[in-house]
This record gives sequence, C-alpha cells and structure tokens, in this order.
Amino acid sequence: MKVTRKHNYRVMIEPKGYAGYMSVSQDDRDSYDLIQCRQIEEQVGRHVDNVYRTTIDYDVEERCSHCKHYWSEDENGVPECCDTAIEEYNSKKQTV
Ligand SMILES: [Zn+2]
Repeated sequence: MKVTRKHNYRVMIEPKGYAGYMSVSQDDRDSYDLIQCRQIEEQVGRHVDNVYRTTIDYDVEERCSHCKHYWSEDENGVPECCDTAIEEYNSKKQTV
C-alpha cells in the first residue's frame, strides 16, 4: 500500500506581474517581475515573523534565437528546430 506524507510545508508568493502595455518586450516584463520579487522578499524580511528564509524561484524556457521555437537537440547535440540553428552548430563545430 502506498503511504503519502505531506511535509516540508512552505508558502509561495507570486508577484502580480507586469500588467501594462503588451508592446513591452518579454525580457522587460521578466525583469519587472524579478524586481517585484526582490521587493516582496525585502518586505517579507521586514514584516513577517517565523520566516527561515526567502528564495526566488523561476521556470527555465529554452528557445532558439533564430526561429523562436522551443530548443531541442538530437542525441548528438545537433539542433532540430531550423536550418539556421543547424548551420550555426556546424560552423561552431568546424572552428573548434
Ligand atoms: Zn531554430
């Protein structure tokens, strides 16, 4: 029989995030979110009892700089998304 135990309880706080104009780049929105997280972290440190530590966590997304699709490689490490990425890989391989 499987026994499930809930443990290591912790609180996660998500920032409101950037809610302005969509014309702002994704990099700028990500930077804004990180600044908000750091501000929340400082505020928790000043105002909240029983906190051992705060950490900022994030998700990682890997995309091709050329075609913007999700990054993937075959078993030999060769990119699979577009010809430009493959050409870049081959040109780097020749210079090594
Ligand atoms: Zn690509």
